[in-house]
Parts: sequence; structure tokens; C-alpha cells
Amino acid sequence: MTSPIPRPGILDISPYVGGQSKLTGVDRVIKLSSNEGALGASPKAMAAYRATAGDMHRYPDGHATALRGALAARHGLDVDRIVCGSGSDELLQLLVRGYVGPDDEVLYSRHGFLVYPIAAKASGATPVAADEVELTASVDHLLAAVTGRTRIVFIANPNNPTGTYLPAAEIKRLRDGLPDHVLLVIDSAYAEFVDRNDYGSGADLVEAGDNVVMTRTFSKIYGMGGLRLGWAYCPPAVADVLNRIRGPFNVSSAALAAGQAAVEDTAFVDLARRHNSYWREWFTEKLAGLGLEAVPSVANFVLVRFPEGAGRNAPAADAFLRSKGIIVRAMDSYGLPDSLRITIGRDDEMQAVIAALSEFRGA
Ligand SMILES: *Cc1c(COP(=O)(O)O)cnc(C)c1O
Repeated sequence: MTSPIPRPGILDISPYVGGQSKLTGVDRVIKLSSNEGALGASPKAMAAYRATAGDMHRYPDGHATALRGALAARHGLDVDRIVCGSGSDELLQLLVRGYVGPDDEVLYSRHGFLVYPIAAKASGATPVAADEVELTASVDHLLAAVTGRTRIVFIANPNNPTGTYLPAAEIKRLRDGLPDHVLLVIDSAYAEFVDRNDYGSGADLVEAGDNVVMTRTFSKIYGMGGLRLGWAYCPPAVADVLNRIRGPFNVSSAALAAGQAAVEDTAFVDLARRHNSYWREWFTEKLAGLGLEAVPSVANFVLVRFPEGAGRNAPAADAFLRSKGIIVRAMDSYGLPDSLRITIGRDDEMQAVIAALSEFRGA
């Protein structure tokens, strides 16, 4: 007997490993490993979710009409260019499936989100990583890595796991330097957290041409990762492609209802952003006080670098935090074994991490 053989590239994929959520022998776990919103979901989104229970035998609106309308109104966008998905992850995968084939290349920056190379390999394509400068995407290095076979350039802005970002002018320079046939996908999963004047989510670049897509998610500031909901803002021809290849009912009725309520609850998003900015700064300062370097972050997580040496390094810190019931994210799979990525959580959670790290550092 021989097993069926998967397409080329599939068995080269190292499966994505999500942040852990349990520790054996620990009752109260503090989970700061997946960048889920510190405050959970909006109470209005939860109420809207519950209200759909009686209708779960009905298929959802396959066009996500009400949700797309709410997103367009909230962000001042063209409703026809919005495509919703089961997490932005689905949309990233569909973009690759729609535009990339065997022997093509997918370009991203060295410490970019791991879903990009996974999606590329799933299509039989070659993922190509461009070097960064100080853990920040480099437009020059990305442009230098473009070849005749490049089909998509992915840039997460801000980037996960580094937390760094490129100003809007740099993203525009990237687009201007790419050949027209290359699709630029700006993954703005953390856009709502950014409080910098020179930042842009990329929506204006989508409208300015035919070859930029922006993706967004409800998994981060909206705190709805368990529901699986994301959206893409696309040129009309790209929206058409996504609408042809996506599942006809790819977003559940519960996600549609909760998502609409979440978008309309702007006070909750503002609260979550303020919470994040305050505690990100507090956390970064405390880390500095402990002699630990935090990569400057505009998102809801911080990449913390540890010195070398047994008992002092990142794996030792990870093990120590776990012994205190605190789960953060080791970065070996991203090629950053000297770092831990720590999500900004609630007040008490941030205080607990700093208390544990103080003890670890002998401070
Ligand atoms: C978390 C994250 C996403 C969101 O994924 P969903 O599928 O929407 O939950 C997308 N891109 C990046 C860079 C992320 O960190």
C-alpha cells in the first residue's frame, strides 16, 4: 500500500504552532502568548453573539452585507471592495491561492508573520525572506529581492513578532518601486493599536491603484480571535477573485453579528487602545529598569531580548515564567531564540510578569 502523495511543497511546511494556553499543575494561567486583546471582547459584541443562537439552523448571509456596511461606514471605505473571511488568515491564504502558483515566489521580510511562507509552500511556491534593518522591514532590501517570478509581497505593518512598523511614506515607496504585476499585501492586523502620526493602515494605497490589498482582523484589538473574523480591502478585480474562490458561507452568522456590534462600539476600541498604550509604555520602562531590552513596539506585544548564558537567557526566562503560571511566546520558530514575545495583558497580569521577571533577574 502507498499513501496518496500531496502536492509539492506541502510536506516542507512546518505546521503553525499557536501560543500555548495550559500549564500542567497550574490553576490560574496568565496567557500572554497570542496577542489576544487584553480586555476581551466588547460586551455589545458578546450580546450580539448570544442573540444569534436561536437562528443557528439558518445559513449566514454569504455576502456579509451588514458587516461590510458597518466597516465601510466606520472607516470611510467603499463597501464593494470589502471581502470578509474566517479570520484574516483565510484571506491571506486565498490571496496566495488566487495569485501564486508553482515556481512563483512570495516575498516577505525576514521576521515577518509565519503564515506567509506557509501559504506560499501550500501553493508550491517559494517563500523568499528579505533582510531587515534593526528588526524592521527594509524597503530597499525588499525591492532588491524582487525577481520576475515574484507574485506577492507581504508586509505586516506593524509587524508580528517584532512590533516595529514602517511609516506610510515608506510603504508608498515600496509600492512605487514594485513592478505592476506584483500584488502588495499590507497586513494591518494591529493597525488600531498604533498611535503614531506617520502611520497609515494602507486603505488609501488600495484606492490609489490596482495592486494593493489591506487585510484586517477582529482577533486583536476587538478580542474576538475565537470567532474567526477578518476582512480585506481590495481593488475591485482582487475582490472579484476572492469572492470566486472563497467558501460561499465562509463567515458564520455569530461572527457576522458580533463583528458588526464590535465595529459600532467605538468607545470600547478607544478604551482598548488607551489601555494598551499605557501598559506598553509602563512595561517597556520596567523592563529597562531590569536591564532588559524591549524592541520599540507600536502593537499590543513587546519583543524582549535576553542576554546569553545558562540561567539568564530567553529559554531560562521562559521556563521561570512558566513556573509562575505565565505563558509567553518563545521565538525559536521566528529565528529569534534570544527573545520572548510578551503580549500586553490586563493591569494585574502586567504587574505579575514584571514581578516574575524581577525575581528572575535577581532584582
Ligand atoms: C494575529 C495576526 C493576524 C490575524 O489572524 P486572524 O486569522 O485574523 O486571527 C494576521 N496577521 C498578523 C501579522 C497577525 O499577527
